[in-house]
Amino acid sequence: MEVQEAKNMVCAAGKQLLKEGLVARTWGNVSVRIDEDHMVITPSGRMYNELTPADMVYVNIHTLKFEGSIKPSSELKLHCQVYKTRPHINSVIHTHQMYASIVAAAQKDVEITDKEQQRILGGTVIKAAPYALPNTKKITVETAKSIEASNAALMSNHGAVCIGTDLEAAFTVARTLELACASFIESRKQAAA
Ligand SMILES: [Zn+2]
Repeated sequence: MEVQEAKNMVCAAGKQLLKEGLVARTWGNVSVRIDEDHMVITPSGRMYNELTPADMVYVNIHTLKFEGSIKPSSELKLHCQVYKTRPHINSVIHTHQMYASIVAAAQKDVEITDKEQQRILGGTVIKAAPYALPNTKKITVETAKSIEASNAALMSNHGAVCIGTDLEAAFTVARTLELACASFIESRKQAAA
């Protein structure tokens, strides 16, 4: 994939996250892998609705070095870790989506019973990574571990990370995770009633 094409895609995806409410409270971040060594990721501390493709940052996955004067998302280490450990994954989305965030705050693993959701999410359990402060080595390692065997993980008191073979697949994972977490919450309410 061309760098420019990736920048256009990642920029549009950032706006799409906002539109779909997947980053309702605070900003998330999106990246696309371009080749074995590089990715393009959304920048740090920008309003998504003001982003242009030129604001997207080209980063080396192994050295974390980036091109230009715009800083990459502060959660780039997590993205790089996923690309290093999951060779078939070419897109990572970190969201603060509502239902997944509620379940993440409770630090609960989510059992997936629906067959179609299992296929999309890549397993029968979506793990909640233990709590760790943002931008720390611990959060990178713990989250990457929780997503080793599936396409999504919850980040305790924080949000979710959703991955896919391409950007569209990662979005489908994020939407499906939201449905799965909504029904998980509903089933617990019924169990408690
Ligand atoms: Zn976050």
